[in-house]
Amino acid sequence: MNNYFQESIECASREEIERIQLERLQKQVKHVYANVPYYRNLMDQKNVKPEDIKTLKDLAKLPFLSKADLRDNYPDGLLAVPKSEVRRIQSTSGTTGKRVIAFYTAHDLDVWAECCARAIVAAGGTKDDVVHVSYGYGLFTGGMGLHDGSYKVGSMTLPMSSGNTERQIQFMRDLGSTILCCTPSYAAYIGETIKEMGLTPDDIKLKAGIFGAEPWTENMRRDIEKSLGIKAYDIYGLTELCGPGVSFECSDQHGMHINEDHFIAEIIDPDTGEVLPYGEKGELVLTSIDKEAFPLIRYRTRDICILKPEKCPCGRTHVRMSKPMGRSDDMLIIRGVNVFPSQIETVLLQNGYAPNYLIEVDRVNNTDTLDINVELSNEQSKDSLFNISNAEKELANAIKTMLGINPKVHLVQPKTITRSEGKAVRVIDKRHLLD
Ligand code: ADP
Ligand code: ZN
Repeated sequence: MNNYFQESIECASREEIERIQLERLQKQVKHVYANVPYYRNLMDQKNVKPEDIKTLKDLAKLPFLSKADLRDNYPDGLLAVPKSEVRRIQSTSGTTGKRVIAFYTAHDLDVWAECCARAIVAAGGTKDDVVHVSYGYGLFTGGMGLHDGSYKVGSMTLPMSSGNTERQIQFMRDLGSTILCCTPSYAAYIGETIKEMGLTPDDIKLKAGIFGAEPWTENMRRDIEKSLGIKAYDIYGLTELCGPGVSFECSDQHGMHINEDHFIAEIIDPDTGEVLPYGEKGELVLTSIDKEAFPLIRYRTRDICILKPEKCPCGRTHVRMSKPMGRSDDMLIIRGVNVFPSQIETVLLQNGYAPNYLIEVDRVNNTDTLDINVELSNEQSKDSLFNISNAEKELANAIKTMLGINPKVHLVQPKTITRSEGKAVRVIDKRHLLD
């Protein structure tokens, strides 16, 4: 059975979606041109006026915005409404540098909640569910976003925030939580803790999880599903556009439907800025077409993915995006080779290790070094016949096959790599310290 929060819009015809998009885009560009001098300036430099946007294709005439533009305008240079209209701010987690502030009017908060409500309903949520929100609350968008979405669905919301994992599990049992929302790395940690407490998935009532805010692999999905006894759904978003809920997975789980009545998605070649056709891999560019306070036009997300227009068995008509295959700035260049941490994670999981690892990159005598610390499982560490140095060599070979460069693998004792309650830190690049 397929559930929708707003069937008429989530399953609207292509013509209807494009009609809404054009109407909203035209209005948005006028709003930004009139109220954001910085963007007006960029448009003037490109010699494009709001009246030039006659079809959706004309979007390509507009200038891009990047995180650097946002930082240059810190804190409120891109605000498009008077401050008295603003009801809330949120802020990025600062994974890649200085924080960015996003502003919301009452309308913007409502749209955001609607996007998250669609994700919760797609994961099977109803008003009879108990939605356990273990994303961090506060400036980070994860907690507040899913919280407001759950409120809109009418579910009972547990505003747990992250941390104090045993207490999380206690509440889960006492209150019968059915849907867990948190980062995938925290979900994995909760699963691990349940096992350590001597419990099994049968001791909790969870049926689904909505996990996002960081990259995670299909292998990790299967691990989490097993350890919590649930179906795990992906959700994507970024603070600049609202937070989680820009796109979400349906039961088909082949990509995340972008909420196209609120966002227009494009894929570009990150080097040339040229728009690429559906199906090609490139950088995701998003335009918020229904925001008042902090509308971003052609925002370069730096997330690399593919847009899939094919019909989805769930009935939703909004285009799907593949899982981001890493951020363009997540990518490490080691000895000239492009390396995404997710590639290393895939090899670890394929070889029976848990996703508890830390990558260290350094430069010694002008040569890049790659060290990967990986935790042993409890069973491996107790097994006197387990040959650590052989296992390290085998894992290093498997990673070399994937990446084409030789890493040094260090198998370390269980629980020695710090667990994440929010977004996991997987890489320490010491080369930057020398810059
Ligand atoms: P920061 O840039 O400080 O981390 P955010 O907290 O807004 O700011 O994070 C947004 C970014 O998180 C996205 O651009 C993307 O790289 C990553 N992200 C969010 N959801 C997912 C997801 N489901 N899968 C992979 N990456 C994701
Ligand atoms: Zn679908």
